[in-house]
Amino acid sequence: MTGNMNSEKILELPPHIAEKIAAGEVVTDPASVVKELVENSMDAGASAITVEIGGGGKSLIRVTDNGSGIPAEQVRTAFLRHATSKLRDISDLDRISTLGFRGEALTSIAAVSRLELYTKTAEASAGVVIRIEGGAVISEKPVGTADGTTVIASDIFFNTPARLKFMKSDRVESARVIDAVSRLSLCRADVRFRLINNGAVLFSTQGRGDTAANILTVYGAEIGKTLLPVHAENEDNISIDGYVSAPYTGAGSGRKKHIFFINERSVHSKLIEKALTEAYRETPLIGAVPVAILFLRVPPERLDINIHPAKSEVRFDDEPALTAFITGAVQSAVRSKAALPTVKSSEKRTAAPLEGVGAQSAPFVDIKYLLSTEREKHAAPETNTLMEDAEEIPVIEKERVHKPFDVAALIPMGRIFSTYIISRDDDSFYFADQHAAHERVMYERLMRQYLNCEKLCQQLITPLVIELPHAARATAPEDETAMRAFLADLGYEAEDFGSNACKINAVPAFMSLSEAEDFLTGLIDGLPAGSSPRDKAAAGRVISAACKAAVKSGDKLGDAEIAALFSDLAACENPYACPHGRPVFIRLTKRDIERLFKRR
Ligand code: ADP
Ligand code: MG
Repeated sequence: MTGNMNSEKILELPPHIAEKIAAGEVVTDPASVVKELVENSMDAGASAITVEIGGGGKSLIRVTDNGSGIPAEQVRTAFLRHATSKLRDISDLDRISTLGFRGEALTSIAAVSRLELYTKTAEASAGVVIRIEGGAVISEKPVGTADGTTVIASDIFFNTPARLKFMKSDRVESARVIDAVSRLSLCRADVRFRLINNGAVLFSTQGRGDTAANILTVYGAEIGKTLLPVHAENEDNISIDGYVSAPYTGAGSGRKKHIFFINERSVHSKLIEKALTEAYRETPLIGAVPVAILFLRVPPERLDINIHPAKSEVRFDDEPALTAFITGAVQSAVRSKAALPTVKSSEKRTAAPLEGVGAQSAPFVDIKYLLSTEREKHAAPETNTLMEDAEEIPVIEKERVHKPFDVAALIPMGRIFSTYIISRDDDSFYFADQHAAHERVMYERLMRQYLNCEKLCQQLITPLVIELPHAARATAPEDETAMRAFLADLGYEAEDFGSNACKINAVPAFMSLSEAEDFLTGLIDGLPAGSSPRDKAAAGRVISAACKAAVKSGDKLGDAEIAALFSDLAACENPYACPHGRPVFIRLTKRDIERLFKRR
């Protein structure tokens, strides 16, 4: 204890110091300034907003809008703390629809920068310009200017060296600004956004309400080739729209882009992340969904947006139900017909590659790549192309209602290379990998058996004897009991886990004897030191690994077996991929075939 702290008298802070401290809550970096200014422009009803930054936004931020403008006599008031035109009464807090309402942004920005604001309302014959430095008004005079408002904030934190020191490089700060403006522009597709960085236009959206076009404009055309539309709503007035990466694309963009909005606000949400991961379970994108841009709409009384001062983290009332809703919506996109991998035509198309409604947004995948079991993921180099307008960019499929992929409607047509079953439906031709299909069927049956109380077993007249490698032997009686219980869950009746061989008296009813034996051997090999899995997820992992061991390609399949396999697949929850994420089906649309024959 030094004691000097207490010997000082308590004094009220001079306003300019208090202002600087308070500013820190709203203005943390250039991106937060841009966000506040753009939100003000949107609140002012602007249909066009231009954001320009220089030096990562540290030296210059200019936001121009064509909104309502501020009446000349109110310009000074706008810079007073807690001055807002958006809140009149405490009861208004419950039905806030504007983005800002605390009345702090302009004050805070003006406190820590050199600020100029030009503004003019449509009714006024002239505008006004006000200059403020570090919170002190330098000048205010009439000026000829267009309707709307322009705010120029220069030299942010010039008077708060401690904060300035924490600013990152121009690159990092400008990346944050670009991210913030990208989000704002996606959320308001009806507003024309233009983003200029150090004099170069990074993007400019059309403001025609076309979110899909904006995604391409903002994130690049490359992304559009692999996006699937998401749409769902439920009876509780909850809805979700947006776009997610199609599975099986293999080569995704290296960096993932997850952008979520709840009721038009950009948010971070662990709940949505979790729901997404769940939706992509058993696809090749497990745990790494490259792109997800989702707009969730939830009745305001069911969420709490005010828990974070920057309003970016949200809480919901019924989280499990909401998670399931999001997972279901994304899953129906990921498991639609359009999501199936398709054969790539190397043909260079002169017109927009994906045109209009009905165009396939399915990923174009090299067939050789798909037919090989080796899956290598190579990240495409990040493109940072300058895009002026969306005219030459492919259009993402906007058809919100997904054509479901109906395995039961497929007409099998035979088999090629002793491995691939060919079939068709009304608009496409399909290759199915017999091995992957078989694995999927076996996996789902075993999982169902594991979860059901009733077990379908067949008793063996002569018991099967399986050798146990050293590692698999149960060392303690309780291990043996646990192992037997796990196998019983799958439909196996087994004994003698302590010795060098175990005896099997019954196997799952839906397996042939050789499958049952291969599966069990694979299962035992995959179990660490005679232990049995404890939960559904762990069981799923060992079961899927063992299915691989049990299913062999090249097995002879006649028409009857193919029909049986397809009807088994049709009963599967996820007939699109084997449990390890390899595709079961590859689709070649009639359109693609016509294109290859140059009929289109
Ligand atoms: P808040 O947005 O929370 O009301 P701000 O400090 O951001 O507080 O803005 C204060 C007020 O200034 C707003 O309520 C609005 O009336 C006015 N204002 C700010 N920016 C603009 C703009 N771009 N166009 C029109 N009015 C604006
Ligand atoms: Mg505001």
